[in-house]
Amino acid sequence: MGGSLKAAHARSIEDREGFWAEQAQLIDWHEPFEKVLDYSRPPFARWFVGGQTNLCHNAVDRHLDSLGDEPALIYVSTETDQERVYTFRELHAEVVRMAAIMQSLGVGRGDRVLIYMPMVAEAIFAMLACARIGAIHSVVFGGFASGSLASRIEDASPSLIVSADAGSRAGKVIAYKPLLDEAIRLSSHKPANVLMVDRDLAPMTMVEGRDHDYSTLRERHLDAKVPVTWLESNEVSYTLYTSGTTGRPKGVQRDVGGYAVALAASMKHIYCGNAGETYFSSSDIGWVVGHSYIVYGPLIAGMATIVYEGTPVRPDAGILWQLVEKYRVTVMFSAPTAIRVLKKQDPSHLTRYDTSSLRALFLAGEPLDEPTARWISEGLGRPIIDNYWQTETGWPILTVAHGIEQTPTRLGSPGMPMYGYDVRLLHEQTGREVGANEKGVIAIVPPLPPGCMQTVWGDDDRFVSTYFESIPGRQVYSTFDWGIRDDDGYYFILGRTDDVINVAGHRLGTREIEESISSHPAVAEVAVVGVADQLKGQVAVGFAVLKDPGSIEQADARLALEGEIMRTVDRQLGAVARPARVHFVTLLPKTRSGKVLRRSIQALCEGRDPGDLTTIEDPGALDQVRQALA
Ligand code: AMP
Repeated sequence: MGGSLKAAHARSIEDREGFWAEQAQLIDWHEPFEKVLDYSRPPFARWFVGGQTNLCHNAVDRHLDSLGDEPALIYVSTETDQERVYTFRELHAEVVRMAAIMQSLGVGRGDRVLIYMPMVAEAIFAMLACARIGAIHSVVFGGFASGSLASRIEDASPSLIVSADAGSRAGKVIAYKPLLDEAIRLSSHKPANVLMVDRDLAPMTMVEGRDHDYSTLRERHLDAKVPVTWLESNEVSYTLYTSGTTGRPKGVQRDVGGYAVALAASMKHIYCGNAGETYFSSSDIGWVVGHSYIVYGPLIAGMATIVYEGTPVRPDAGILWQLVEKYRVTVMFSAPTAIRVLKKQDPSHLTRYDTSSLRALFLAGEPLDEPTARWISEGLGRPIIDNYWQTETGWPILTVAHGIEQTPTRLGSPGMPMYGYDVRLLHEQTGREVGANEKGVIAIVPPLPPGCMQTVWGDDDRFVSTYFESIPGRQVYSTFDWGIRDDDGYYFILGRTDDVINVAGHRLGTREIEESISSHPAVAEVAVVGVADQLKGQVAVGFAVLKDPGSIEQADARLALEGEIMRTVDRQLGAVARPARVHFVTLLPKTRSGKVLRRSIQALCEGRDPGDLTTIEDPGALDQVRQALA
C-alpha cells in the first residue's frame, strides 16, 4: 500500500470500492465479484456481491502447491503432553475427512454445526470442514457450562454438535460430555447427531443413534475426497455468540468473502506475517481472536499457526517463549491478563529463550495498562502493539499498521483508526462530534468495512436497534466503549458505556450473571457489577437481596450460601462467569423509577465517589453496600 497510515485511511473512506477491490486481490476467487459494495439497505452492507470463494480453500487448498510440506498447524498441549505438527497437506487430509464425516451425518450447505471443544486439533479440522462444505459453524467456548451452551444450541439450532470427552486446565480435567448432555436436555432444539472426539480423559456415556465416535468414523473416510463448495461472498460462514446489555447472547454473524479479504489484508498491513513463518496466538477458538487469528488469518496468509492447550505458567512461566524459540515464531498475539500473570513470576523466564525471531507481540481484548506494557516491552526487547476491536468487527478498529507505515506506538493507546473504519467520537446524548481531548462514545459511520458482522443471527431488527440506534439523531454503529483522542490522533479507551464487563479478556454481560444468581431459590433480587482487579482487569461482584434475610444471620450460613450461589453460576454459565464475591443486602440502591444504580455500586466497590445521587429512592441502600464492603 505504501504512504502514510492517515493517507491510506483517508483513501479507504473516500474511495471505499477502489480500496477494497485492491485488497480483494489478496485472496482466491472462484468467480469474480460483480460489485464491491452493495449498500442499498443501510446499515446492512454486502461486500463483493456475486463473487464466489471459500474460506477453507483460501486457508488450506490454495497453499498445497507452494507450501504442501510446510507446517500449517502446530498442536501443543502442555495439559496432555502432546505435540504434533501437521503440514498443509496433512491438514488438508484431516479437514477433508472431517468434511466427509459431516456429510455422512447429513450436514450440508447452510446447516449449523455447533463446536463445543477444548483446544485440540480436531476443533480446527471441524471449523475448516464446515467452511469447506458451506455449513455454518458456531464455536462455543469450552469454559462455558450447560446454561450458556443450551441458550446457544437453542438459538443456532444445529443439526450436528462436535465435542470431546473433556478439556483440561492447569492439570484439572473438565468433563464436557455431561455438560453437553445437560445442555441438550435444557434446549428445546435437539441436534440430530453428536460427534465425540475421545481424548481418553473422562468416561463418556454415548446416546444410541445420536452420538458417534470420531475416530471410528474417521477410519471410514481416510481416503475421502470432498471438493470445496463455492459460496457467494455474502453467505454465512459462522456465528459467534457474545454478551451485551440483555441477558440473551447475540449471534454475531459473519460472511465469507468480506471476512477472508479483511483477514488477508490485516495479516499483511497490521500483523505483517509472511507465508512460511509461524504465528502464535495464545487465545482460544471460543473467542473471536481464535477465529480470526488462530485459525483463518494466519492460514490464509500461508503461515503455520500454533494451537496451544495450556496456561502461560505450566510447566513454568517460560513456556510461551520456549514455543517462540522452538518454532521461530515471528508474530505473536496474547492478552494483557496473560502478561500480568507472567509479571508475577521470575522475570528471567523472559530472557532464557531466544526470542529474536519475534517481530512484534500484539495484545488485545482488554485495556493494556502502562506498567504491563512497559514490563513486557523492556523484558522482550520487542515492539508491543495494542489493538482494539470487538467480536462484532472481527479485526482491529484501532491499532498501528506497520505494514503501511512505521507509526510509533504510544503507551496506553491502542493507536489510530484502521483503514475501512470511519471512526468518530460522539457525545452520548446529543450525538455531536467531540473534539480532541474530550470524552465521547467510539462510533463508526456505516457501512462497516468487510469482515465485520453482517447482522445478529436470525434477528435483523436486533442488529439495527442494538448497534445503530443508541446515539440520538444519527444512524451510526456504537462500540459501547468510551474513548478520547489526543491532538495527534491517538485514541485511548476509557471503559464500556453499557453493562458489559471484561474479566481476564473474557467479555461477560452482568445481566447474564444476574439471571444465573437469581435462579438460586434463596435469592429475591441481585445486582452484579464489574470491579477493577489488578490481575484480571475486572471481576464480577454481586449484591443479593434474599427472600429470607433471617436465614443468614450466622456468619457460616452466609459463607455457605455465598459458596452455593457461586456454584450455581459455575454450573449454569461456567467458572469464567463466577463472581469474586456475593454480598448480601436487604435493599439495592435504585432510582425512584426502579433502575438499579450499578455505576454507584461499582464506584463504591472501587473506593470512588458514588456520583450523582439525586434520583436515588433510598440512600440507606448505599450504606448497606458500604457496610457489606467493609
Ligand atoms: P470482545 O468482543 O470479547 O472482543 O470484547 C470487546 C471489548 O473488549 C471492547 O468493546 C472493549 O471494551 C474491550 N477491548 C478490546 N480490546 C481492547 C483494547 N485493546 N483496549 C481496551 N479495551 C479493549
